[in-house]
Amino acid sequence: MMDKVRVRYAPSPTGHLHIGGARTALFNYLFAKHYNGDFIFRLEDTDIERNIEGGEASQLENLKWLGIIPDESPLNPNPKYAPYRQMERLDIYKKYIDILLEKGYAYKCFCTPEELDAEHERQVAAGIAPKYNRKCCDLTPEEVKAKEEAGLPYTIRVKVPAGKTYEFDDMIRGHVSFESEDIGDWVLIKANGIPTYNFAVVIDDHCMDITHVFRGEEHLSNTPKQLMIYEMLGWSAPTYGHMTLIVNEDRKKLSKRDESIMQFVSQYKEEGYLPDAMFNFMALLGWSPEGEQEIFNHDDLIKEFSEKRLSKSPSMFDKEKLKWVNNRYIKERSLEEVVDLCLPFLSDAYDLSNHSEQWVKDLVAVYHDQLSYGKEIVELVSLFFEDELQIDEEAQEFMKDESIPNTLAVFKSKLEELSDADFTKDNIQACIKATQKEAKAKGKMLYMPIRIATTGIMHGPDLASSIMLLGKEKVLSRL
Ligand code: GLU
Repeated sequence: MMDKVRVRYAPSPTGHLHIGGARTALFNYLFAKHYNGDFIFRLEDTDIERNIEGGEASQLENLKWLGIIPDESPLNPNPKYAPYRQMERLDIYKKYIDILLEKGYAYKCFCTPEELDAEHERQVAAGIAPKYNRKCCDLTPEEVKAKEEAGLPYTIRVKVPAGKTYEFDDMIRGHVSFESEDIGDWVLIKANGIPTYNFAVVIDDHCMDITHVFRGEEHLSNTPKQLMIYEMLGWSAPTYGHMTLIVNEDRKKLSKRDESIMQFVSQYKEEGYLPDAMFNFMALLGWSPEGEQEIFNHDDLIKEFSEKRLSKSPSMFDKEKLKWVNNRYIKERSLEEVVDLCLPFLSDAYDLSNHSEQWVKDLVAVYHDQLSYGKEIVELVSLFFEDELQIDEEAQEFMKDESIPNTLAVFKSKLEELSDADFTKDNIQACIKATQKEAKAKGKMLYMPIRIATTGIMHGPDLASSIMLLGKEKVLSRL
Protein backbone atom coordinates (compact mmCIF):
# COMPACT_ATOMS: atom_id res chain seq x y z
CA MET A 1 0.00 0.00 0.00
CA MET A 2 1.19 3.49 -0.82
CA ASP A 3 2.13 5.56 2.24
CA LYS A 4 -0.29 8.30 3.07
CA VAL A 5 0.52 11.22 0.81
CA ARG A 6 2.07 14.09 2.74
CA VAL A 7 3.16 17.24 0.96
CA ARG A 8 4.23 20.60 2.23
CA TYR A 9 4.39 24.23 1.27
CA ALA A 10 7.43 25.74 2.94
CA PRO A 11 7.70 29.48 2.38
CA SER A 12 10.21 31.80 3.93
CA PRO A 13 8.43 34.52 5.87
CA THR A 14 10.28 37.14 3.85
CA GLY A 15 7.18 38.56 2.24
CA HIS A 16 3.50 38.21 1.57
CA LEU A 17 1.95 35.44 -0.48
CA HIS A 18 3.25 35.83 -4.01
CA ILE A 19 1.45 34.41 -7.04
CA GLY A 20 4.27 31.91 -7.55
CA GLY A 21 4.13 30.77 -3.93
CA ALA A 22 0.37 30.53 -4.03
CA ARG A 23 0.56 28.33 -7.13
CA THR A 24 3.13 26.08 -5.40
CA ALA A 25 0.88 25.80 -2.37
CA LEU A 26 -2.12 25.14 -4.57
CA PHE A 27 -0.55 22.31 -6.56
CA ASN A 28 0.72 20.63 -3.42
CA TYR A 29 -2.72 21.03 -1.88
CA LEU A 30 -4.58 19.69 -4.93
CA PHE A 31 -2.24 16.71 -5.12
CA ALA A 32 -2.63 15.94 -1.41
CA LYS A 33 -6.39 16.23 -1.45
CA HIS A 34 -6.71 14.24 -4.67
CA TYR A 35 -5.00 11.33 -2.93
CA ASN A 36 -6.66 11.92 0.45
CA GLY A 37 -3.36 13.04 1.88
CA ASP A 38 -2.17 15.83 4.15
CA PHE A 39 -1.06 19.29 3.19
CA ILE A 40 1.46 20.77 5.59
CA PHE A 41 2.51 24.37 6.02
CA ARG A 42 6.06 24.72 7.30
CA LEU A 43 8.15 27.81 7.73
CA GLU A 44 11.68 28.18 6.38
CA ASP A 45 12.70 31.07 8.56
CA THR A 46 16.44 30.54 8.81
CA ASP A 47 17.34 33.60 6.76
CA ILE A 48 16.74 35.74 9.81
CA GLU A 49 17.71 39.11 8.34
CA ARG A 50 15.21 38.73 5.53
CA ASN A 51 12.22 37.64 7.62
CA ILE A 52 9.50 40.24 7.89
CA GLU A 53 7.21 40.91 10.79
CA GLY A 54 3.88 39.18 10.25
CA GLY A 55 5.15 37.22 7.24
CA GLU A 56 3.91 33.88 8.51
CA ALA A 57 0.47 35.17 9.52
CA SER A 58 0.03 36.93 6.22
CA GLN A 59 0.95 33.81 4.24
CA LEU A 60 -1.54 31.72 6.20
CA GLU A 61 -4.25 34.34 5.97
CA ASN A 62 -3.95 34.64 2.21
CA LEU A 63 -3.93 30.87 1.77
CA LYS A 64 -7.05 30.69 3.87
CA TRP A 65 -8.71 33.33 1.73
CA LEU A 66 -7.99 31.14 -1.30
CA GLY A 67 -9.54 28.16 0.46
CA ILE A 68 -6.24 26.39 1.11
CA ILE A 69 -6.29 25.29 4.73
CA PRO A 70 -3.29 23.30 5.92
CA ASP A 71 -3.87 20.06 7.81
CA GLU A 72 -0.80 20.89 9.87
CA SER A 73 0.91 24.20 10.50
CA PRO A 74 2.58 26.10 13.35
CA LEU A 75 -0.92 27.04 14.46
CA ASN A 76 -2.31 23.55 14.05
CA PRO A 77 0.59 21.25 14.91
CA ASN A 78 0.62 17.49 14.93
CA PRO A 79 2.75 16.66 18.01
CA LYS A 80 4.40 13.85 16.10
CA TYR A 81 5.96 16.33 13.68
CA ALA A 82 6.12 19.67 15.49
CA PRO A 83 7.63 22.21 15.58
CA TYR A 84 6.92 23.63 12.11
CA ARG A 85 9.26 26.60 12.16
CA GLN A 86 12.86 25.83 11.30
CA MET A 87 14.26 28.20 13.91
CA GLU A 88 12.51 26.07 16.52
CA ARG A 89 14.11 22.89 15.15
CA LEU A 90 17.78 23.80 15.59
CA ASP A 91 18.41 20.96 18.04
CA ILE A 92 17.05 18.49 15.48
CA TYR A 93 19.51 19.69 12.84
CA LYS A 94 22.29 19.54 15.41
CA LYS A 95 21.60 15.88 16.01
CA TYR A 96 21.99 15.03 12.33
CA ILE A 97 24.94 17.28 11.70
CA ASP A 98 26.75 15.45 14.49
CA ILE A 99 26.07 12.16 12.73
CA LEU A 100 27.44 13.51 9.44
CA LEU A 101 30.54 14.88 11.19
CA GLU A 102 31.13 11.66 13.02
CA LYS A 103 30.83 9.57 9.89
CA GLY A 104 33.25 11.84 8.05
CA TYR A 105 30.62 13.05 5.59
CA ALA A 106 30.99 16.61 6.79
CA TYR A 107 33.79 18.79 8.11
CA LYS A 108 34.38 22.11 9.76
CA CYS A 109 35.68 24.88 7.54
CA PHE A 110 37.55 27.82 9.04
CA CYS A 111 38.11 29.75 5.83
CA THR A 112 37.16 33.40 6.24
CA PRO A 113 34.76 35.11 3.82
CA GLU A 114 37.74 37.14 2.53
CA GLU A 115 39.74 34.01 1.75
CA LEU A 116 36.75 32.44 0.06
CA ASP A 117 36.14 35.52 -2.05
CA ALA A 118 39.77 35.73 -3.11
CA GLU A 119 39.79 32.07 -4.09
CA HIS A 120 36.54 32.52 -6.00
CA GLU A 121 38.01 35.42 -7.95
CA ARG A 122 41.16 33.48 -8.69
CA GLN A 123 39.15 30.58 -10.09
CA VAL A 124 36.97 32.81 -12.20
CA ALA A 125 40.04 34.60 -13.57
CA ALA A 126 41.61 31.24 -14.40
CA GLY A 127 38.47 30.23 -16.26
CA ILE A 128 37.58 27.41 -13.86
CA ALA A 129 34.01 26.89 -12.64
CA PRO A 130 34.32 28.19 -9.08
CA LYS A 131 33.91 25.79 -6.19
CA TYR A 132 35.31 25.43 -2.71
CA ASN A 133 38.97 24.36 -2.87
CA ARG A 134 38.68 21.98 0.09
CA LYS A 135 41.37 23.76 2.05
CA CYS A 136 39.84 22.62 5.35
CA CYS A 137 38.75 19.18 4.22
CA ASP A 138 41.84 17.40 5.46
CA LEU A 139 42.59 19.27 8.67
CA THR A 140 43.70 16.83 11.35
CA PRO A 141 41.52 16.48 14.46
CA GLU A 142 44.26 18.33 16.37
CA GLU A 143 44.26 21.23 13.94
CA VAL A 144 40.48 21.49 14.13
CA LYS A 145 40.60 21.40 17.91
CA ALA A 146 43.25 24.10 18.06
CA LYS A 147 41.27 26.41 15.78
CA GLU A 148 38.11 25.84 17.75
CA GLU A 149 39.90 26.56 20.99
CA ALA A 150 41.26 29.73 19.48
CA GLY A 151 37.60 30.74 18.99
CA LEU A 152 37.78 30.86 15.18
CA PRO A 153 34.35 30.87 13.56
CA TYR A 154 33.58 28.00 11.22
CA THR A 155 30.98 26.64 8.89
CA ILE A 156 30.24 22.96 8.38
CA ARG A 157 30.56 21.68 4.84
CA VAL A 158 29.53 18.43 3.29
CA LYS A 159 32.25 16.39 1.62
CA VAL A 160 30.73 15.82 -1.77
CA PRO A 161 31.50 12.27 -2.91
CA ALA A 162 33.67 11.98 -6.02
CA GLY A 163 32.49 10.47 -9.28
CA LYS A 164 28.84 10.06 -8.39
CA THR A 165 25.78 10.64 -10.49
CA TYR A 166 22.67 11.83 -8.70
CA GLU A 167 19.55 10.97 -10.62
CA PHE A 168 15.85 10.95 -10.05
CA ASP A 169 12.57 10.78 -11.90
CA ASP A 170 10.88 14.11 -11.70
CA MET A 171 7.09 14.01 -11.86
CA ILE A 172 7.12 16.83 -14.38
CA ARG A 173 10.46 16.69 -16.15
CA GLY A 174 11.09 12.98 -16.27
CA HIS A 175 14.58 11.63 -15.72
CA VAL A 176 17.11 14.16 -14.41
CA SER A 177 20.73 13.63 -13.50
CA PHE A 178 23.61 15.63 -12.06
CA GLU A 179 27.30 14.83 -11.66
CA SER A 180 28.87 15.26 -8.25
CA GLU A 181 32.01 16.69 -9.95
CA ASP A 182 30.04 19.84 -10.67
CA ILE A 183 29.11 20.42 -7.05
CA GLY A 184 31.54 21.99 -4.58
CA ASP A 185 31.55 21.09 -0.90
CA TRP A 186 28.61 23.23 0.13
CA VAL A 187 27.75 24.64 3.51
CA LEU A 188 25.36 22.72 5.77
CA ILE A 189 25.67 24.96 8.82
CA LYS A 190 26.54 28.64 8.58
CA ALA A 191 28.99 30.37 10.89
CA ASN A 192 26.09 31.57 13.04
CA GLY A 193 25.14 27.95 13.73
CA ILE A 194 22.02 28.09 11.57
CA PRO A 195 21.53 25.46 8.88
CA THR A 196 21.29 26.28 5.20
CA TYR A 197 18.12 25.62 3.24
CA ASN A 198 19.51 22.57 1.42
CA PHE A 199 20.39 20.82 4.65
CA ALA A 200 17.39 21.76 6.78
CA VAL A 201 14.91 20.90 4.06
CA VAL A 202 16.15 17.32 3.93
CA ILE A 203 15.90 16.84 7.66
CA ASP A 204 12.42 18.36 7.75
CA ASP A 205 11.07 16.48 4.75
CA HIS A 206 12.36 13.23 6.20
CA CYS A 207 11.25 13.81 9.77
CA MET A 208 7.83 14.99 8.65
CA ASP A 209 7.30 11.93 6.42
CA ILE A 210 6.92 14.07 3.32
CA THR A 211 6.22 11.80 0.34
CA HIS A 212 6.05 14.26 -2.56
CA VAL A 213 7.42 17.72 -3.22
CA PHE A 214 6.14 20.14 -5.83
CA ARG A 215 8.28 23.24 -6.00
CA GLY A 216 9.57 25.82 -8.42
CA GLU A 217 12.09 24.89 -11.07
CA GLU A 218 14.67 27.19 -9.46
CA HIS A 219 15.12 24.35 -6.97
CA LEU A 220 16.02 21.73 -9.58
CA SER A 221 19.76 22.24 -9.13
CA ASN A 222 19.34 22.01 -5.35
CA THR A 223 17.95 18.52 -5.65
CA PRO A 224 21.28 16.66 -6.10
CA LYS A 225 22.59 18.41 -2.98
CA GLN A 226 19.58 17.20 -1.08
CA LEU A 227 19.82 13.69 -2.52
CA MET A 228 23.38 13.31 -1.26
CA ILE A 229 22.26 14.05 2.29
CA TYR A 230 19.47 11.48 2.03
CA GLU A 231 22.00 8.95 0.87
CA MET A 232 24.50 9.75 3.61
CA LEU A 233 21.83 9.39 6.27
CA GLY A 234 20.45 6.21 4.71
CA TRP A 235 17.04 7.66 4.00
CA SER A 236 14.93 7.62 0.89
CA ALA A 237 14.02 10.90 -0.73
CA PRO A 238 10.52 12.08 -1.57
CA THR A 239 9.33 12.16 -5.16
CA TYR A 240 9.97 15.56 -6.72
CA GLY A 241 8.10 17.60 -9.26
CA HIS A 242 9.70 20.84 -10.40
CA MET A 243 7.14 23.20 -11.80
CA THR A 244 7.90 25.50 -14.66
CA LEU A 245 8.06 29.24 -14.39
CA ILE A 246 5.16 31.59 -14.46
CA VAL A 247 5.88 34.27 -17.04
CA ASN A 248 4.28 37.61 -17.85
CA GLU A 249 2.76 38.57 -21.16
CA ASP A 250 6.23 39.40 -22.52
CA ARG A 251 7.26 35.85 -21.65
CA LYS A 252 9.54 37.12 -18.88
CA LYS A 253 9.75 35.41 -15.51
CA LEU A 254 7.47 37.11 -12.98
CA SER A 255 9.75 39.25 -10.91
CA LYS A 256 8.75 41.24 -7.90
CA ARG A 257 9.72 44.44 -9.70
CA ASP A 258 7.47 43.74 -12.66
CA GLU A 259 4.74 46.33 -12.54
CA SER A 260 2.72 44.90 -15.41
CA ILE A 261 1.14 42.37 -13.09
CA MET A 262 -0.07 42.52 -9.50
CA GLN A 263 2.23 40.00 -7.84
CA PHE A 264 0.60 39.36 -4.49
CA VAL A 265 -2.58 37.47 -3.72
CA SER A 266 -3.66 40.21 -1.32
CA GLN A 267 -3.72 42.71 -4.19
CA TYR A 268 -6.30 40.63 -6.02
CA LYS A 269 -8.35 40.43 -2.88
CA GLU A 270 -8.14 44.20 -2.54
CA GLU A 271 -9.28 44.75 -6.12
CA GLY A 272 -12.35 42.60 -5.61
CA TYR A 273 -11.38 39.33 -7.24
CA LEU A 274 -13.17 36.28 -5.86
CA PRO A 275 -11.12 33.67 -4.03
CA ASP A 276 -12.73 30.70 -5.77
CA ALA A 277 -12.03 32.30 -9.14
CA MET A 278 -8.37 32.85 -8.19
CA PHE A 279 -8.16 29.24 -7.02
CA ASN A 280 -9.56 28.09 -10.37
CA PHE A 281 -7.38 30.43 -12.44
CA MET A 282 -4.17 29.54 -10.62
CA ALA A 283 -4.83 25.83 -11.06
CA LEU A 284 -4.60 26.45 -14.79
CA LEU A 285 -1.14 28.04 -14.44
CA GLY A 286 0.89 25.00 -15.40
CA TRP A 287 -1.78 22.35 -15.21
CA SER A 288 -4.53 21.51 -17.65
CA PRO A 289 -7.60 19.35 -17.32
CA GLU A 290 -8.42 16.60 -19.83
CA GLY A 291 -11.22 18.22 -21.79
CA GLU A 292 -11.99 21.74 -22.89
CA GLN A 293 -13.72 22.80 -19.69
CA GLU A 294 -11.83 25.42 -17.71
CA ILE A 295 -14.23 26.41 -14.97
CA PHE A 296 -13.98 24.06 -12.01
CA ASN A 297 -14.94 24.63 -8.43
CA HIS A 298 -12.72 23.70 -5.50
CA ASP A 299 -13.91 20.12 -5.12
CA ASP A 300 -13.98 19.39 -8.84
CA LEU A 301 -10.41 20.62 -9.18
CA ILE A 302 -9.36 18.22 -6.44
CA LYS A 303 -11.10 15.41 -8.29
CA GLU A 304 -9.69 16.35 -11.71
CA PHE A 305 -6.14 17.17 -10.64
CA SER A 306 -3.47 14.86 -11.94
CA GLU A 307 0.26 15.28 -11.64
CA LYS A 308 0.48 13.69 -15.10
CA ARG A 309 -0.99 16.79 -16.69
CA LEU A 310 1.45 19.31 -15.27
CA SER A 311 3.03 21.33 -18.01
CA LYS A 312 6.68 21.21 -19.03
CA SER A 313 6.60 24.65 -20.58
CA PRO A 314 6.29 28.03 -18.86
CA SER A 315 2.81 29.19 -18.06
CA MET A 316 1.75 32.68 -18.94
CA PHE A 317 -0.11 34.77 -16.42
CA ASP A 318 -2.86 36.04 -18.69
CA LYS A 319 -4.62 38.93 -16.97
CA GLU A 320 -7.49 38.91 -19.47
CA LYS A 321 -8.10 35.26 -18.78
CA LEU A 322 -8.16 35.91 -15.06
CA LYS A 323 -10.77 38.61 -15.64
CA TRP A 324 -12.78 36.21 -17.76
CA VAL A 325 -12.66 33.50 -15.10
CA ASN A 326 -13.52 35.98 -12.37
CA ASN A 327 -16.44 37.31 -14.40
CA ARG A 328 -17.76 33.76 -14.74
CA TYR A 329 -17.75 33.44 -10.95
CA ILE A 330 -19.29 36.87 -10.40
CA LYS A 331 -22.14 35.95 -12.73
CA GLU A 332 -22.85 32.92 -10.56
CA ARG A 333 -23.11 35.01 -7.41
CA SER A 334 -26.42 36.46 -6.27
CA LEU A 335 -27.01 40.16 -6.85
CA GLU A 336 -26.83 40.73 -3.08
CA GLU A 337 -23.37 39.18 -2.98
CA VAL A 338 -22.17 41.26 -5.90
CA VAL A 339 -23.54 44.39 -4.25
CA ASP A 340 -21.54 43.49 -1.13
CA LEU A 341 -18.48 43.01 -3.30
CA CYS A 342 -18.91 46.37 -5.04
CA LEU A 343 -20.14 48.55 -2.21
CA PRO A 344 -16.78 49.32 -0.59
CA PHE A 345 -15.38 50.45 -3.95
CA LEU A 346 -18.43 52.52 -4.76
CA SER A 347 -18.56 54.29 -1.44
CA ASP A 348 -14.86 54.95 -1.67
CA ALA A 349 -15.15 56.57 -5.06
CA TYR A 350 -18.52 58.31 -4.89
CA ASP A 351 -20.82 60.07 -2.50
CA LEU A 352 -23.72 57.66 -2.09
CA SER A 353 -25.53 59.64 0.59
CA ASN A 354 -28.21 60.81 -1.84
CA HIS A 355 -28.92 57.33 -3.09
CA SER A 356 -31.07 54.60 -1.61
CA GLU A 357 -29.91 51.04 -1.06
CA GLN A 358 -32.30 50.00 -3.80
CA TRP A 359 -30.71 52.45 -6.20
CA VAL A 360 -27.26 50.99 -5.53
CA LYS A 361 -28.65 47.52 -6.04
CA ASP A 362 -30.26 48.53 -9.33
CA LEU A 363 -27.01 50.14 -10.39
CA VAL A 364 -24.97 47.03 -9.71
CA ALA A 365 -27.62 44.86 -11.34
CA VAL A 366 -27.07 46.67 -14.63
CA TYR A 367 -23.42 45.54 -14.63
CA HIS A 368 -23.74 42.17 -12.88
CA ASP A 369 -23.17 40.14 -16.03
CA GLN A 370 -20.30 42.13 -17.41
CA LEU A 371 -18.31 42.88 -14.25
CA SER A 372 -14.81 41.34 -14.19
CA TYR A 373 -13.76 42.32 -10.66
CA GLY A 374 -15.21 44.40 -7.86
CA LYS A 375 -13.19 47.56 -8.30
CA GLU A 376 -14.04 47.70 -11.97
CA ILE A 377 -17.51 48.88 -10.98
CA VAL A 378 -16.07 52.34 -10.26
CA GLU A 379 -15.22 53.12 -13.88
CA LEU A 380 -18.23 51.29 -15.25
CA VAL A 381 -20.73 53.42 -13.34
CA SER A 382 -18.98 56.79 -13.56
CA LEU A 383 -21.61 58.09 -15.94
CA PHE A 384 -24.20 57.92 -13.19
CA PHE A 385 -22.22 60.23 -10.95
CA GLU A 386 -21.39 62.98 -13.42
CA ASP A 387 -23.35 66.17 -13.27
CA GLU A 388 -22.33 67.49 -16.66
CA LEU A 389 -23.40 65.65 -19.74
CA GLN A 390 -20.39 64.99 -21.95
CA ILE A 391 -21.12 64.24 -25.57
CA ASP A 392 -18.25 63.20 -27.81
CA GLU A 393 -17.81 64.30 -31.42
CA GLU A 394 -19.22 61.24 -33.07
CA ALA A 395 -22.34 61.46 -30.94
CA GLN A 396 -22.70 65.17 -31.67
CA GLU A 397 -22.49 64.41 -35.36
CA PHE A 398 -25.24 61.84 -34.98
CA MET A 399 -27.48 64.32 -33.22
CA LYS A 400 -27.57 66.59 -36.27
CA ASP A 401 -30.32 64.53 -37.90
CA GLU A 402 -33.38 66.76 -38.24
CA SER A 403 -35.84 64.15 -36.95
CA ILE A 404 -34.22 64.13 -33.56
CA PRO A 405 -35.59 67.23 -31.79
CA ASN A 406 -39.12 65.97 -32.29
CA THR A 407 -38.30 62.46 -31.08
CA LEU A 408 -36.73 63.84 -27.93
CA ALA A 409 -39.58 66.25 -27.32
CA VAL A 410 -42.10 63.43 -27.55
CA PHE A 411 -40.07 61.23 -25.25
CA LYS A 412 -39.70 64.06 -22.76
CA SER A 413 -43.44 64.65 -22.68
CA LYS A 414 -44.04 60.94 -22.05
CA LEU A 415 -41.63 60.91 -19.14
CA GLU A 416 -43.20 64.02 -17.66
CA GLU A 417 -46.43 62.10 -17.31
CA LEU A 418 -44.74 59.64 -14.93
CA SER A 419 -44.88 60.40 -11.23
CA ASP A 420 -41.64 59.99 -9.27
CA ALA A 421 -42.88 56.66 -7.93
CA ASP A 422 -43.69 55.49 -11.44
CA PHE A 423 -40.25 56.29 -12.76
CA THR A 424 -39.41 52.60 -13.14
CA LYS A 425 -37.59 50.63 -15.75
CA ASP A 426 -40.78 49.10 -17.17
CA ASN A 427 -42.61 52.40 -17.38
CA ILE A 428 -39.63 54.07 -19.01
CA GLN A 429 -39.50 51.24 -21.50
CA ALA A 430 -43.19 51.87 -22.21
CA CYS A 431 -42.43 55.56 -22.82
CA ILE A 432 -39.79 54.60 -25.35
CA LYS A 433 -42.35 52.38 -27.10
CA ALA A 434 -44.91 55.16 -27.11
CA THR A 435 -42.34 57.54 -28.57
CA GLN A 436 -41.66 55.09 -31.32
CA LYS A 437 -45.31 55.24 -32.39
CA GLU A 438 -45.93 58.90 -31.91
CA ALA A 439 -42.70 60.27 -33.32
CA LYS A 440 -42.48 57.57 -35.96
CA ALA A 441 -38.86 56.91 -35.10
CA LYS A 442 -37.55 53.41 -35.01
CA GLY A 443 -34.45 51.34 -34.34
CA LYS A 444 -31.29 53.38 -34.22
CA MET A 445 -33.15 56.64 -34.84
CA LEU A 446 -35.19 56.00 -31.72
CA TYR A 447 -32.73 54.59 -29.22
CA MET A 448 -29.58 56.45 -30.15
CA PRO A 449 -30.89 60.00 -29.72
CA ILE A 450 -32.47 59.09 -26.40
CA ARG A 451 -29.30 57.40 -25.23
CA ILE A 452 -27.03 60.25 -26.27
CA ALA A 453 -29.31 62.94 -24.90
CA THR A 454 -29.61 61.26 -21.51
CA THR A 455 -26.26 59.53 -20.99
CA GLY A 456 -23.98 61.29 -23.47
CA ILE A 457 -22.62 58.04 -24.89
CA MET A 458 -23.53 55.98 -27.91
CA HIS A 459 -23.16 52.58 -26.30
CA GLY A 460 -23.92 51.65 -22.75
CA PRO A 461 -25.98 49.46 -20.50
CA ASP A 462 -29.71 48.85 -20.86
CA LEU A 463 -31.30 52.17 -21.80
CA ALA A 464 -34.41 52.11 -19.63
CA SER A 465 -32.36 51.06 -16.59
CA SER A 466 -29.83 53.81 -17.27
CA ILE A 467 -32.56 56.43 -17.44
CA MET A 468 -34.12 55.14 -14.24
CA LEU A 469 -30.76 55.27 -12.47
CA LEU A 470 -30.03 58.81 -13.64
CA GLY A 471 -33.32 59.86 -12.10
CA LYS A 472 -36.23 61.85 -13.40
CA GLU A 473 -34.96 65.29 -12.60
CA LYS A 474 -31.58 64.90 -14.29
CA VAL A 475 -33.03 63.16 -17.33
CA LEU A 476 -35.71 65.79 -17.93
CA SER A 477 -33.26 68.63 -17.65
CA ARG A 478 -30.90 66.90 -20.09
CA LEU A 479 -33.68 66.23 -22.54
N1 GLU B 1 11.56 27.99 1.12
C1 GLU B 1 11.73 27.44 -0.19
C2 GLU B 1 11.08 28.35 -1.19
O1 GLU B 1 10.22 29.12 -0.80
C3 GLU B 1 11.12 26.06 -0.27
C4 GLU B 1 11.76 25.21 -1.28
C5 GLU B 1 11.27 23.80 -1.25
O2 GLU B 1 10.07 23.61 -1.44
O3 GLU B 1 12.06 22.89 -1.05
O4 GLU B 1 11.41 28.36 -2.34
